Amino acid sequence: MKDRLSLKVSVSGVRGVIGESLTPRLAARFAQAFGTYLGGGKVVVGRDARLSGPMLQEAVTAGLLAVGCRPVDVGLCPIPSFQVLTKALQARGGIAITASHNPGEWNGLKFIGEAGLFLNRSRFAEFNEIYHQGEFALVPADKMKPAVREEAPLKPHLDRLLAALDVDLVRRRRFRVAIDCANGAGAALAPEFLRRLGCRPILVNAVPHGRFERPPEPVPENLGSLKRAVRADRADVGFAQDADADRLAVVDEAGRPLGEELTLALAVNRVLSSRTAGPVAVNLSTTRAIDDIAAAAGVPVFRTRIGEINVVEEILEREAAIGGEGNGGVIWPAVRPCRDSFAAMGLVLELMAASGKRPSALRREIPAYHMVKDKVPGTARQAHLIGKALKKMYAGKGEVVTLDGVKVVFADSWVHLRPSNTEPIIRILAEARTKPEAVRLVRLFKAEVKRRAS
Ligand code: MG
Repeated sequence: MKDRLSLKVSVSGVRGVIGESLTPRLAARFAQAFGTYLGGGKVVVGRDARLSGPMLQEAVTAGLLAVGCRPVDVGLCPIPSFQVLTKALQARGGIAITASHNPGEWNGLKFIGEAGLFLNRSRFAEFNEIYHQGEFALVPADKMKPAVREEAPLKPHLDRLLAALDVDLVRRRRFRVAIDCANGAGAALAPEFLRRLGCRPILVNAVPHGRFERPPEPVPENLGSLKRAVRADRADVGFAQDADADRLAVVDEAGRPLGEELTLALAVNRVLSSRTAGPVAVNLSTTRAIDDIAAAAGVPVFRTRIGEINVVEEILEREAAIGGEGNGGVIWPAVRPCRDSFAAMGLVLELMAASGKRPSALRREIPAYHMVKDKVPGTARQAHLIGKALKKMYAGKGEVVTLDGVKVVFADSWVHLRPSNTEPIIRILAEARTKPEAVRLVRLFKAEVKRRAS
């Protein structure tokens, strides 16, 4: 039972606990299924810094070879760099070995299609069907292709970042930047990227040795060492990545975390004020500060289901200027339509350079809302049943959105309940003008979950 509970298969990929549910056998089967789905060809394979990464990479490589693919080994690689590279190499797809922000005992596989984008729901379902049928396109020995190694996997991403950003503007300021890579894949690129922007990087948890010196989720309670480094070294700003470097949190010049929601707000602010303004696409749980910033720029905001690919597809469809997720996942299509902590850093540094303001002052310019995020153990099925009940309860009391779980939007607050895509939990988020009001809304929904679960 433990195994089934800890293995999560969703459009976000596969995640499980090493030594329990995520085994080399399972990884090789998923790789065979994915290679079969792609129909052979070049498939990029890389990983974050977890100790179980090399084991899974061997298994994934074996699975891909078995179905006639040519695996391209990129080793330790941030996920946005991986996505840019998959497109640049014109590969059929890629398998990234990472459990993103999950704790160290977890690992997982993310499946990427030929454009460097995650599989959407229908494509994932097709591939998952092949996995369950177990009919893999195994090839005989004389059809097997040798695996190759990519020697400069980060270059296409770095080139695109430097082309999209106003490098001269940032370089002139010679910022001191504390960067906390969570001992993850971000460490492979962050110091070089910051130096190219003329910054002096102060490195925190920047050795990718496979053990996490802090929990990899870049939420305020995990940023103690970064906060101390910002103060001790008088940094202009602090940045924290998660283990695969798609999410970014910002710490101000006094060592105070701005909260992950503010990362996207700052990035949206910068893009809309410095480039041709265009629509913004964000997920349902993202701060309404985005709506205020977009309204001031005269552009619409489109809201999507949770999950990076849903936001990415909306960005492409609406030709959005920028978008992302409130968890620190900035998606700036000028680099690539994927969550990218490096693009996020670049835009925040641009904003600091252009305005001459420090992060604390920039924060005060963002409309103030308080978000409270909570979670309770529970399955998708339970979340669905509770959601149905809440929908009835709140009909007529607020705008009820059922695109993903159930979100009730009031005049200047909202509350959202949905099953996690990656863990066996139900997430409850609320945002309001004041913290007590946000706490009250979360408690209201939480009480409903407890009442129905008992
Ligand atoms: Mg991540």
